[in-house]
Amino acid sequence: METIEIKRSVQQIMQSLPQNVLLVAASKQRTIEEVQTAIEAGIKVIGHNYVQQAERMQEVIGYKVQWHMIGHLQKNKVNKAVKIFDMIETVDSFELAEKINERCEMENKFMPILIEINSGREPNKTGALPEEVDELILQISELPFLEIQGLMTMGPRFGNPEDARPYFKATKAAFDRLNQARLDNVEMLYLSMGMSNSYQIAIEEGANMVRIGSKLFGERKC
Ligand SMILES: *Cc1c(COP(=O)(O)O)cnc(C)c1O
Repeated sequence: METIEIKRSVQQIMQSLPQNVLLVAASKQRTIEEVQTAIEAGIKVIGHNYVQQAERMQEVIGYKVQWHMIGHLQKNKVNKAVKIFDMIETVDSFELAEKINERCEMENKFMPILIEINSGREPNKTGALPEEVDELILQISELPFLEIQGLMTMGPRFGNPEDARPYFKATKAAFDRLNQARLDNVEMLYLSMGMSNSYQIAIEEGANMVRIGSKLFGERKC
């Protein structure tokens, strides 16, 4: 998209969001220039799926925005991810959490994380299964350098975003239940769900963090 169009769509979406909803600009496959334009228009949080591309972007853009990991994190990328991200939204196994915790200890850094749920129970998708989430959170809450701050879900990507609503509802129910459980070292602050085609429905169902790419930057080429 042209610079002016990116600015317009950023402002339009920011104005349309309720006050309590945090907008994460999903920036995979975008140029540094496009992301900088979005920041000029008011974006405060950049989400990225790929550690190395995020690192390159951060070298240019710096720390005037927050950086969230929103893609599947491979264990061999953990060291770099701990260095560059302010939040990892996609923790879905104890093994991954342990690796992140270990690295955080070396760097003397606390890492806010979200637990990713595979709310649609889709095979071959990342995220913990809904019935595994409680046990996983209990385990991870023992890791001293991680701060569990909420849940993230993709939800199945249907043609019709209305079809994602039941999965958003179920994730919100889990969020509320875990919040009421008041577990040690767990603070249910953020519920990250909804993308370009589904964020309005996600907000209706209780999301307070949305990850939007194509509606800010234009359709992706691939
Ligand atoms: C790409 C991506 C988004 C944004 O998707 P759009 O449909 O472009 O808004 C959100 N979350 C994750 C995890 C993504 O990979």
